[in-house]
Amino acid sequence: MSKPVTKEEALDYHQFPKPGKLEIGTTTKLGTQRDLALAYTPGVAFPCLEIEKNPDNAFKYTAKKNLVAVISNGTAVLGLGNIGAVASKPVMEGKAVLFKKFAAVDSFDIEVDETDVEKFVSICKAISPTFGGINLEDIKAPECFEIERRLIEEVDIPVMHDDQHGTAIITTAGLINACEIIGKKLEDLKVIVMGAGAAAISCARMYKAVGVKDIIMCDSKGVIHDARTDLNKYKKEFSIKESMTKLDAFRDADVVLGLSKPGTFTEEHIAVMADEPIVFALANPTPELFPEDILKIRDKAIVGTGRSDFNNQINNVLGFPFIFRGALDVQAKKINMQMKKAAAYAIADLAKKTVPADVKAIFGDHLTFSKEYIIPKPFDKRLIIEISSAVANAAVESGVARIKEFDLTAYKEELSQ
Ligand code: NAP
Ligand code: MG
Repeated sequence: MSKPVTKEEALDYHQFPKPGKLEIGTTTKLGTQRDLALAYTPGVAFPCLEIEKNPDNAFKYTAKKNLVAVISNGTAVLGLGNIGAVASKPVMEGKAVLFKKFAAVDSFDIEVDETDVEKFVSICKAISPTFGGINLEDIKAPECFEIERRLIEEVDIPVMHDDQHGTAIITTAGLINACEIIGKKLEDLKVIVMGAGAAAISCARMYKAVGVKDIIMCDSKGVIHDARTDLNKYKKEFSIKESMTKLDAFRDADVVLGLSKPGTFTEEHIAVMADEPIVFALANPTPELFPEDILKIRDKAIVGTGRSDFNNQINNVLGFPFIFRGALDVQAKKINMQMKKAAAYAIADLAKKTVPADVKAIFGDHLTFSKEYIIPKPFDKRLIIEISSAVANAAVESGVARIKEFDLTAYKEELSQ
């Protein structure tokens, strides 16, 4: 395990050599009077008029084609909570850096000091012409659901709240592979979702979309059931008929997906689960229950956490850079469920392939498809090829791509350069 990061080291990293983590670069030459006349007035008027005639020409003549907005209002930042817009800026800059490094996607971080849903939506909508996509980030539940739903409906570029769907896509990939290893079918699983917030609701929806039927969701008050009168409409979607204790819910459950906080389930709950339980304890930075405590009582369990110092890290960086890469490259209007499923299956499939030497050099020689390795690692250069191509292809097949001609083999070849 690498040594813990200190405050001083982190502050220095952010302050030097220049404050922050990214800057803007240029792509054309600007050395002569003529260049000046082309880059700015009068030459710039020509692309303006082409775009006025057909707004899709913005993909051809501006940076829109490769530009994502990372937008937050700072209401649910990491595990820090509602720290406000400007304090969220280091996180949003960090996200922009990951977009660039992992998938060559350019992005602006945009911190919006607005918590009212209606106003926040109208601000995002008003600035959307600048971008080829919008990554919503660290916006608290339940407002995040309505904000995302409205923007998906009202703008013509892909919008994805990564805390919801990034997590859903990666945990779905993990679930698919964990099931394959223990020989269970998604449709036969009994799944406990611990938590009913941004990530949990989206994961539960995606689990249903890939075939899971039996889901019991719990929030801070316990199992979500029909007799409760305190449920918002998102929790109601997963409400079960009968009331039961949390411990009863766990009996014979095949999977628990923790997206809550430390201690919301314990050894007592794990002990009553089915054979070879799948336990994703994703509360960050401290999981609901530590892997050693789970494995101590159920040594055949498949365990995942959000942390890099344990096996099976559920890390959103496996998803968002490549999902947006694929969506941008076909000028998609949306990121729909077909695209999200395609991403999840591409991630799952990649974990089954032989791990390249450069990835083993970082993470160790032990990496082969098994209970300890159900999802690929970051820095695997095949992620961009497999995920972006699967997402782009699904966008074309589901009719949300603007581009009309798409050659999957050629695109994969391009991504591997
Ligand atoms: P959130 O929207 O604040 O949701 C937290 C949920 O936990 C709420 O529904 C809350 O219940 C529930 N909760 C609190 N105490 C509980 C208890 N005793 N028993 C059961 N549920 C309880 O947060 P989020 O964004 O979904 O994230 C949740 C956690 O998952 C965080 O720790 C986050 O860091 C982690 N996470 C990890 C990953 C990853 O590893 N890749 C990705 C996303 C999130 P109420 O609704 O009753 O308040
Ligand atoms: Mg986030």
